[in-house]
Amino acid sequence: MMGTLYLVATPIGNLGDLSSRALEVLESADIVAAEDTRVTGSLLKKLGMEKKLVSYYEHNASMRSGLLLSRLEAGDCVALVSDAGTPAISDPGEDIVARCIEKNIPVIPVPGPCAFVCALTVSGFSTKRFTFVGFLSAKQGERKKELEAYCHATETLIFYEAPHRLLKTLSDMKEILGAERRVSVSREITKKFEEHIRGTISEVLAHFEEHGVKGEFVIVAEGGTKAESDLNALSLEEHLEHYLALGNSKKDSIKLVAADRNLPKREVYAHFID
Ligand code: SAM
Repeated sequence: MMGTLYLVATPIGNLGDLSSRALEVLESADIVAAEDTRVTGSLLKKLGMEKKLVSYYEHNASMRSGLLLSRLEAGDCVALVSDAGTPAISDPGEDIVARCIEKNIPVIPVPGPCAFVCALTVSGFSTKRFTFVGFLSAKQGERKKELEAYCHATETLIFYEAPHRLLKTLSDMKEILGAERRVSVSREITKKFEEHIRGTISEVLAHFEEHGVKGEFVIVAEGGTKAESDLNALSLEEHLEHYLALGNSKKDSIKLVAADRNLPKREVYAHFID
């Protein structure tokens, strides 16, 4: 019998967010593979658990996967945890998951906290369609190019950012996504100094310039509008779908499509009724 690889989500700040199922899986696992054994060691200590920990981090992931796979094939159960949140989301994990799937080893999620899901859900922006971008490049030139690629994306965009780069990234966003684009920046989610700062990129940047930057951050940007030429190339249905996906009501979407195409509203409406 093969073992099972469990991806166990851990708190991103508040210990109370660890699920009872996560506790059970950690307790019963033969091996806990941890991104940083000191961080996970101290979490397990707080939970009163003593476990054998194996390190599994970005730079030893492909080598460690081999060892973990042989244990899984021998029937052991492995719980993979990262320092905080959901493993394999901007954290190590995807390598061993892919290799387990190749070998038909079961991979089971133990869901829990994930910073980007928290930030998206409290942003107030459309949650119907979104792109999780994760970390942008640390190099400004590349970062700007990456942002340019998302400039006209109409879905909500979500970014992770390190505190020392937050101001630089927000000013690049101001330049490329536009000063008036709305963002919601979530800081220290589930922790004592949690806050969610919402406004235009200009306003939010000014806020952090004034109050300083401390803690962990997720930036959520409202979707953009397609370039005018792109909109005109859409069918009427796609054009309506574009505005609906941005969170507009059907009535408002019809109004917007009519304005873009210089058509009477009733004509657009009639078209959609058909
Ligand atoms: N796997 C994690 C998850 O599920 O969210 C993400 C790990 S990634 C290495 C770390 C980044 O997640 C941070 O730089 C920050 O952007 C975001 N993050 C993690 N915890 C956070 C928190 N409590 N508040 C805000 N952002 C957080």
